[in-house]
Amino acid sequence: MFICSLLAAATAHAGNGPEFDAKHLSQDVKVLASDEFEGRGPNTAGENKTVAFLIEQFKAAGLQPAGDLLKGQKNVRSWTQDVPLGRFEIKGPVKLQLHDAKGNQELKQGEDMAVRAAMNGSKKVDFRNAPLVFVGYGVNAPERKWDDFKGFDLRGKLAVVLINDPDFETGVGDFGGKAMTYYGRWTYKYEEMARRGALGTIIVHETAPASYGWATVKNSNTNVMYDIVRKQPAMAHASMEAWIQRDLAVDLFKRGGQDFEALKKLAQTRNFKPVQLQGVTLTASYAVDAQTIVSKNVAGRVVGSTHPEQTVMYSAHWDHLGVGLPDAKGDKIYNGAVDNATGIAALLELARAYGKAPAPQRSVLFLAVTAEEKGLLGSEYYAAYPLYPLAETVGAINMDALSPYGPARNFTISGSAKLDLLDQLIAKAKQYDMVYAPDPKPEAGHFFRSDHFPLAKRGVPAISFGSGDDWIEGGLAAGHKSEEDYVVNNYHQPSDEWKAEWPFTGMARDLGLLYGLGRDLAESKDWPNWAQDAEFRIIRDASASKRR
Ligand SMILES: [Zn+2]
Repeated sequence: MFICSLLAAATAHAGNGPEFDAKHLSQDVKVLASDEFEGRGPNTAGENKTVAFLIEQFKAAGLQPAGDLLKGQKNVRSWTQDVPLGRFEIKGPVKLQLHDAKGNQELKQGEDMAVRAAMNGSKKVDFRNAPLVFVGYGVNAPERKWDDFKGFDLRGKLAVVLINDPDFETGVGDFGGKAMTYYGRWTYKYEEMARRGALGTIIVHETAPASYGWATVKNSNTNVMYDIVRKQPAMAHASMEAWIQRDLAVDLFKRGGQDFEALKKLAQTRNFKPVQLQGVTLTASYAVDAQTIVSKNVAGRVVGSTHPEQTVMYSAHWDHLGVGLPDAKGDKIYNGAVDNATGIAALLELARAYGKAPAPQRSVLFLAVTAEEKGLLGSEYYAAYPLYPLAETVGAINMDALSPYGPARNFTISGSAKLDLLDQLIAKAKQYDMVYAPDPKPEAGHFFRSDHFPLAKRGVPAISFGSGDDWIEGGLAAGHKSEEDYVVNNYHQPSDEWKAEWPFTGMARDLGLLYGLGRDLAESKDWPNWAQDAEFRIIRDASASKRR
């Protein structure tokens, strides 16, 4: 009774938007997370069932197909976008050898270094005596007037680079202090060195700035790797992409006549210049098996009444881990109820609400992306090969692993970022008596680990919405307990299954907020942007002439 009256109050307060049905959310999660869908692994029978279900629901909601253009047709689209994915695996031993004045030293894959399968199209990585060059944090940030490279030519050389950004250790500076900018993320380091034509990138692992230990580095780099199929893979990946243990790196610097800590201090200033480790080189040799699979993003839209070429986006990933190793009970199906049947159920309910309402002025795209669990690849593919121009994409709201419980007094987004879209969400949330709870650990770089990010990186204002933890019933204690319980007992485990007792009333309430935000954007002529000092502002502003 107590919860019901609170809920009624919250709904009444929110006012005029559509009502979202907790029962629909529960039903959709139940279907998507059922054993029949086999954990929704890309390129499996589970994918076929999931994609068919999503198309059926989008159709019933009254959306238009918004995927790839059908062959030979100008305006007729399919419900899906093909997402070709490369699968890369190291075959046989990884040979790594260091050389210096004293002789040669064999390095162990996974122990001394963690080397990923090459994704630049090479079937074999094979080089001798490559020079090692320390490039500090490896950052080129024109908006911050910061350039670690100073014109140094990295071609044919291995770039040794620090993780996180230059002001992580000092806590104050031009890169948000403790909070991580994109320049701090390992993906940025790999991408920047590839753009500079380096032979390879070797990231020095340090636990605090990485925010995880060596075991994580080892596990996530020495297994099978996936990437979208790229027209020019060498522009995105150097031959060698690897991490090295800190103690070994410190020793290497010494052998090259350098002091690691002193150079690191220097790298925290604008005066830093690349330093070659004299007389130290690396030889590497390993074979790479590359295969291609094809998965699908599912896309439907409501076509805008006056500005159909301008797009507001909602997204969520449909994939999960599929069938894998059994848990203690012998269950092998990773159902992914919270992760991310909840986000897809939310996407479907939003689609139904938009389908029922009159079309807004701008178009609204509903995109269910694949292969998030393999590294945000469905969203990366969409962002690299967008169905609708990114320059005229107003904003994107992603949903991943929402809470199936009751409503909270707050909400969050993945990671920290400064953009108008977040300010608008915070303002809108006031109508629902909800406050914004910032990421308590901005140094971990969560902003770069969710499906909104491939769009953000290309300038599109984008966020991933997260459920609040200050529950109306039970407060922070109950919210935290439920989160911890999920992480320990269910996250990426076969036990992430639908439960009949989940009320879904929190999601239903939050969807009113997300609908309101998207609807406002879709009825407006405004183009929300990034904050002046946000790292994606320059990229967005470069296409400003296409937005009027
Ligand atoms: Zn996941």
